[in-house]
Amino acid sequence: MTSKVSTPAPQTSSQTRDGLLPSLWQQTAATFFKPGGTDPNRTWDVLIVGGGITGLTTALSLQEEGLSCLVAEAHTVGFGTTGGTTAHINTMLDTPYPTIESDFGTAGAETTAIAARSARDLIAKNVSTYGIDCDFEYKQGVLFAETGEQAAELERIFTASRRAGVDVVQADRIPVPLNYRMAIAHQKQAQIHPLKYIRALADRFMSRGGSLLEHTRVLNSTHKGDLHEVETTDRLIKARRIVYATHIPPGVNVLHLRCAPYRSYVLAMQLADGNYPNDLAYDMQEPYHYFRSHVIEDRPYLILGGEDHKTGHGSPNDAFQRLEAYARKHFRVASVDYRWSAQYFEPADGLPYIGALPGAGPDVYVATGFSGNGILFGSFSGLLLTDLILGRENPCEKLFSPSRIKPVAGFTNFVKENADVAYRFVADRIGAEQLRELAALPSGTGAVVSYQKEKVALYKSPEGKVTALSPVCTHAGCIVAWNDAEKSWDCPCHGGRYDVNGNVLTGPPRKNLQELPIP
Ligand SMILES: Cc1cc2nc3c(=O)[nH]c(=O)nc-3n(C[C@H](O)[C@H](O)[C@H](O)COP(=O)(O)OP(=O)(O)OC[C@H]3O[C@@H](n4cnc5c(N)ncnc54)[C@H](O)[C@@H]3O)c2cc1C
Repeated sequence: MTSKVSTPAPQTSSQTRDGLLPSLWQQTAATFFKPGGTDPNRTWDVLIVGGGITGLTTALSLQEEGLSCLVAEAHTVGFGTTGGTTAHINTMLDTPYPTIESDFGTAGAETTAIAARSARDLIAKNVSTYGIDCDFEYKQGVLFAETGEQAAELERIFTASRRAGVDVVQADRIPVPLNYRMAIAHQKQAQIHPLKYIRALADRFMSRGGSLLEHTRVLNSTHKGDLHEVETTDRLIKARRIVYATHIPPGVNVLHLRCAPYRSYVLAMQLADGNYPNDLAYDMQEPYHYFRSHVIEDRPYLILGGEDHKTGHGSPNDAFQRLEAYARKHFRVASVDYRWSAQYFEPADGLPYIGALPGAGPDVYVATGFSGNGILFGSFSGLLLTDLILGRENPCEKLFSPSRIKPVAGFTNFVKENADVAYRFVADRIGAEQLRELAALPSGTGAVVSYQKEKVALYKSPEGKVTALSPVCTHAGCIVAWNDAEKSWDCPCHGGRYDVNGNVLTGPPRKNLQELPIP
């Protein structure tokens, strides 16, 4: 056993993601669809913003219902968290059923369980109806307790899950080589290759007449008559309805106070003894570890995730180091082939927000707050949003409504205060003498430093070129933090993320970080 962290060789990939470290999926998903062009004068029934699992599931579902749909993706399909997920399809959910039951009642827990099952079934149906080759496999999902305290909690989870109608049984084995006190197995869980799946959805969507624009960031919209006129980075789009499938809605919205950004870390490893888990598994530590395996091009990988923390807090490299030490303690790791991290949004009350976007005017929808279950809830969003848009009843409409949030005391002040945070950089240039101090910054890293009582986000490229940016997030004025693993600036408040040049990667900001000229 060793706690030394290994660094897989940098990899190149045709598929980009909102982080520097390629995920296992990026390397093995060939591009096999071509985004279509659009008629600039056309009015669309629905504009779907975002080309992750939520956007593409929703777009395909609406297109199949006969609505004309356009997907606008700021980067490329799968650029967001869907390209960095681990793609467990687990109806078990991160928010335990005792919590859902106590906060939303027995009926709420039952409805949530039905939603989770219907999302799993939708993925299975898409795979079989469209003949999608995405390595879909049914698995068990085993949750295990390692201590007496965890076992008592697991007992409560088991009972509440059964009451909610979850198909779960006591288990007498677990799929990973760890000691355990008690385990429960959720039946008919599943796993997929997420990029293969969503690219096939995109393919099908376009073959049914839908249009998809990559490298098209939605900036603003105005509502005129019954139409939304939507400004993007390269064109004006007219649509009757807008769906924000952007993982978190852009701009400033009450949902940013109800969704906290977190990062989670993943390793894909080959094992010396071939002892790969056959099923999905989860421990009950805080934060928990999640395990599964996947065979890609005849090579099996153990995929281990964990070490979650709030975005912008804690050191990503330390998180990878702890995760690898944990892996080496429990498995015979032959090689760590991939390591990557990604962001998710934790909802304040444990359930996702899917429906009309609060405060956005008519016919604007959102799907967010998925926690670590966005493959499931992103898919469910396709079902629920289709029903809402077509005026059909859905038992989850109220339960998942983004407006279930009561107006939060002090929200108006929050927006005002943060909008007023003007970045006052005392001099608009960084003096040459300060540059000498900056020489101490190691190449390939960044840091927020103080300069004449103001803060500056500095990055030094591997070639030694220094870029200076205002560290004030353009969303709500918080100070960004350097992410040394993914080489990005991450905002700890609402999850806005920028590349080393200050360009928006993901999250709610609409504007890039302000560049500060260096003489
Ligand atoms: C490490 C990790 C592991 C996970 N594992 C699991 C798992 O095993 N099972 C599970 O169910 N869930 C899991 N999740 C959660 C799940 O992966 C995500 O919730 C889900 O992928 C989110 O999908 P999405 O389509 O909503 O968002 P994304 O995939 O982030 O897609 C949003 C897209 O919108 C685009 N966009 C943003 N703003 C704009 C704009 N203004 N204009 C145009 N486009 C824009 C982005 O570029 C992006 O491509 C995991 C999350 C993490 C971080």
